[in-house]
Amino acid sequence: MICLGIESTAHTFSCAIVQKNKKSGKILSDVRKIYRPPEGQGIHPREASRHHIENSSDVLLECLKKANLKISDVDIISYAAGPGLGPCLRVAGVIARTVSSYYKIPIYPVNHAIGHIELGKLLTGAKDPLVLLVSGGHTMLAALKQKKWRIFGETLDTTLGQLLDQFGRSLGFASPCGKKIEELALESENYVSLPYVVKGNDVSFSGLLSAAKKISSNQKDACYSLQETAFAMIGEATERALSFTEKKELLIVGGVSANKRLSEILKKICQRQKCKFFVSPIEYAGDCGSQIAWTGLLEATAKKGAKLDETFVRQSWRLDTVEIDY
Ligand code: AMP
Ligand code: MG
Repeated sequence: MICLGIESTAHTFSCAIVQKNKKSGKILSDVRKIYRPPEGQGIHPREASRHHIENSSDVLLECLKKANLKISDVDIISYAAGPGLGPCLRVAGVIARTVSSYYKIPIYPVNHAIGHIELGKLLTGAKDPLVLLVSGGHTMLAALKQKKWRIFGETLDTTLGQLLDQFGRSLGFASPCGKKIEELALESENYVSLPYVVKGNDVSFSGLLSAAKKISSNQKDACYSLQETAFAMIGEATERALSFTEKKELLIVGGVSANKRLSEILKKICQRQKCKFFVSPIEYAGDCGSQIAWTGLLEATAKKGAKLDETFVRQSWRLDTVEIDY
């Protein structure tokens, strides 16, 4: 079965073609165009959606061309229906509905966070992991129990990706800033004390962000101290969730999983907890159509496509409300 997956929840517009054969999946193409806000600014939803609309037909055509397929070869279409920025979400929704109704191809709305998790599982081979999803839109620990991804810790305010991006932007960097902060952090070992806030098994980053901005006259020390503090908080919550769920695998997914220092900290925790460590390949860690296509294929094994009037986009759509029946 072949699926065209469309992603446009935030900064990325992406189309991908994935083929499923029994339990294995193969990415035939994955084309992306990323909206870059002006330096020092965050994503403007309307500008990002304009970017997605302008690039949508080129990305779709290139994705089919790279896979060497015609639209008539596609068996199902899936699109990221949420969570995300309203104006951005509507772009994938409208394109998926249009192609589906014109070519009579079954359509599947997919939860973006579950897309991150399922593609991570496919590409790493993790079977039943505790998942740490760390991205621009999410910071949560989730594990599959009784047909739902249950949450074992999450951020109470800003996400880990937003913490890094907002701090970077305050220094005048262009968003996304995680990579640049990681590079600067490597040039310091001088830890400046910052607020460390873990409540129960949830984390809170807003006080950390304000305090980090106050010590930003030395950029390298500030980046190093910010990373060490935020990643130690995530590490504490992850270790407690591993111990509580007794999962024997940890999988990190989402754009921030590209960070090597975060992996280093989590790897040590996994050694202590005698659990296997998996990290999403860097190319597929951030938002992409393959996540949506693969999850659409999994959904298609369990249910029929949605009727067009049942399709939707939802800015707030928690993954723990979705019943997993595949
Ligand atoms: P996503 O929302 O999954 O596309 O992830 C985007 C987020 O990943 C942004 O907040 C980026 O700053 C962050 N990110 C990307 N690369 C890195 C990195 N090397 N270290 C930390 N964060 C990163
Ligand atoms: Mg994402």
